[in-house]
Amino acid sequence: MKEFEYLMSTRICFGKDIIHKNGNIISKYGRKAFIITGKASSKKNGSLDDVKNMLDKLDICYCIFDEVEENPTLETVERAAAMGKRENVDFIIGIGGGSPIDAAKAIGILINNSSASIDDLFGERQLQALPIIALPTTAGTGTEVTPYAIFTDHRIQTKRNFSQKVFPNIAFLDAKYLVGTPDHITINTAVDALSHLIEGYLSVKSNILSDALAEKGLIIFSECIEALKHRDFQYEIREKLLIASTLAGMVIAQTGTSLPHGMGYALTYFNGIPHGRANGLLLKEYLELSSWMSKVKNILSLLKINNLKEFGEFIYELIGKETSVKEEQIERYTEAMIGNKDKLKNHPVEVSKEDILNMYKNSFNFPV
Ligand code: NAP
Ligand code: FE
Repeated sequence: MKEFEYLMSTRICFGKDIIHKNGNIISKYGRKAFIITGKASSKKNGSLDDVKNMLDKLDICYCIFDEVEENPTLETVERAAAMGKRENVDFIIGIGGGSPIDAAKAIGILINNSSASIDDLFGERQLQALPIIALPTTAGTGTEVTPYAIFTDHRIQTKRNFSQKVFPNIAFLDAKYLVGTPDHITINTAVDALSHLIEGYLSVKSNILSDALAEKGLIIFSECIEALKHRDFQYEIREKLLIASTLAGMVIAQTGTSLPHGMGYALTYFNGIPHGRANGLLLKEYLELSSWMSKVKNILSLLKINNLKEFGEFIYELIGKETSVKEEQIERYTEAMIGNKDKLKNHPVEVSKEDILNMYKNSFNFPV
C-alpha cells in the first residue's frame, strides 16, 4: 500500500439547531468576534441572527463585515482586514457560501500578521490565522474542512488558491440554513461537491482514507440524484447534500483538485459562469480523458449511472448547455491551463496541450 499522511484538524458539529446547542464551544477563542458574510443571504436564512444571538448569550462582542461578493477579490479581503484590525477582533466567524468563508481565512491571516500584505498570502512563508469558525450555508465547496481559499486576482486575470493553509477551527453544519436556497444555487453548488468527489478520487494524491471518504460521498450524492433532477429538496436531501459536500471537502483537503477546477477558473473569470457550473460543464470530458478505468467504473457504479453517456445527460439535465464560451477564448484558456502546474500535477498521467484543448472543445461542442 502506498505511503500517505492524513490531516484534517477541523472540529465538525453537525445537526439541526447546532448553534443553539453547541455554540458555547467558541467562547474560548476570545471576547470579540469578527463576522464575515455576504451581502444578503445570511440575513434571510437565519444564520446571521442565530450567530448574533449566540454571541449575545455568551457576552462576546462582535462587528460585522457583510460585503463579501461571489468569487471574492483581494481588494475586499484587504478592506475587511483593515476593519478587523481597527476593531481589535480576537477571532473570525465566516457565514455563507465558499466566498465569505474563504475570505474569512485570508482576513484572519492579515489581521493576525499586522505587517503581512496581500502578496504574502501567496508567498512561501506560512502564516498563522486568527481562529476561524465556519458556518456554511451552501452545500458545495467544503471550505469549512479544507485549508484552501480561492480569490479573484485581477492582476493575473484569474482565480487562484492562496499558498497558506488554514483549516477552520470549528465547522457548524446545519441544513436548516439551506432550506429555500434557489434551485440554481443548490444545483451549481451540488455539482461543485460532485466535482470535488470525482477529482479527489482520481487525483494522484488520493489514498485509502480519501478514497473511503470519496466513495461514501458518492453514495450519499447518488441518493440525491432524483431530488436534483426534480428540483425537489426535502429537508433530508438538504442534509445529505451538506454532508456529501463536507465529505468532498475532506477529500480535496488531502488530494487537491485537478483539471476541471483548473480549467473552470477561466470560465468563471472571463465568462461569469458560477464556480460549480463551470466544473460541471467539464466533468464528463474529464472522465472521458481519464485512463484510471477501474476508478471511473467505481464512480459510475456508486452513482448508479450506467455509462459516461448517461453521466453527461445527467449533468446537462441539471445545469443545461452553455453558449457564452467562444472558440477563440478556448485557445487562450488552454494556454493558461497548460501553465497551471499545480492542477496538472494532480492528474495521474501527463496531459498535453492537445488534451486540454480537446477537453474544452468537446465540452462546448466545437469541432475537434
Ligand atoms: P458563494 O459565492 O459563496 O455564494 C453564491 C451565492 O449564493 C451568493 O449570491 C450568496 O448570497 C448565495 N447564498 C449563499 N448561501 C445561501 C443560502 N443558504 N440561501 C440562498 N442563497 C445563498 O457560493 P459557493 O459556491 O458556496 O462558493 C464559491 C466560492 O468558493 C468560489 O470562489 C470557489 O472558487 C470557492 N471554493 C472554495 C473551495 C475551498 O476549499 N476553499 C473549494 C471549492 C470552491 P450572498 O452573497 O448574499 O451571501
Ligand atoms: Fe470547487
